[in-house]
Amino acid sequence: MRPIAQTERTQLHRLPKRGTYTREAVYSILDEGLVCHVGFVADGTPFVIPTAYAHHGDTLYIHGSAASRMLRALGGGAEACITITVLDGLVLARSAFHHSMNYRSVVILGRGRLVEEPSEKLLALEWITEHLVPGRWKDVRHPSTQEMKATAVLAFALEEASAKIRTGPPMDDEEDYALNAWAGVLPLTLAKGEPIRDVRLPPEIQVPGYVSAYDRSRVSSEKVQAAEEKSNARSNFEAIRFP
Ligand SMILES: Cc1cc2nc3c(=O)[nH]c(=O)nc-3n(C[C@H](O)[C@H](O)[C@H](O)COP(=O)(O)OP(=O)(O)OC[C@H]3O[C@@H](n4cnc5c(N)ncnc54)[C@H](O)[C@@H]3O)c2cc1C
Repeated sequence: MRPIAQTERTQLHRLPKRGTYTREAVYSILDEGLVCHVGFVADGTPFVIPTAYAHHGDTLYIHGSAASRMLRALGGGAEACITITVLDGLVLARSAFHHSMNYRSVVILGRGRLVEEPSEKLLALEWITEHLVPGRWKDVRHPSTQEMKATAVLAFALEEASAKIRTGPPMDDEEDYALNAWAGVLPLTLAKGEPIRDVRLPPEIQVPGYVSAYDRSRVSSEKVQAAEEKSNARSNFEAIRFP
């Protein structure tokens, strides 16, 4: 895959070795994340709105009520900054100063395209549903004409974006390694709980496999390991001051 072009705006200044512009890295984070935060300015006020998304090919899709401020502003051409974060752990250093987090994050810049072509719009809604719960779309009622009208979908070309990845142990000041404070990494993953049946669900409807076997943490730990190996090879955990 061709890499994403680095622009002046996406060039990392803080710890640039943590940055990557390969589509493989960016897309793997997009595929694992669940929520994006969309930043934009409307009527002079900045907003950062959390929302669902889907990644398909070189495009990121978001959707929402056609009446929402976010969809109206972005559909009207406002520029967006979209971030996706996968949190992998808390990094506990011997000093408060060197505490950090292990993470994989993506920042996307650009303007959205209002998706009006009905088949692309419907596909985007399918991709958003499938991104959250793979396997779900085939089981549910698809949007009616009225629901399609009430929903706006925006597409963002993934052409100006960056990924940043932190892995590994805390990096303390040399003299602090003699301190008694516990230090290390507390890994964190997104875990599912027990599915809760809707009270109006007929008893004969069983929990589908894609719900009972839902497991993002397995994906996550495999990705962390891969990222960690890559990062080890690349920078041998360069000393840091901030995440
Ligand atoms: C979960 C989490 C916790 C963090 N906690 C802290 C914290 O407490 N303090 C702190 O200073 N920083 C923290 N960071 C790092 C933070 O996201 C920034 O990378 C860092 O603050 C540098 O910001 P800057 O504006 O100086 O970046 P610059 O290096 O000037 O940014 C230039 C460009 O680099 C890209 N970029 C910057 N950061 C990221 C990123 N995280 N992911 C993808 N692309 C990026 C963007 O395209 C940006 O426009 C955290 C990151 C994550 C994901």
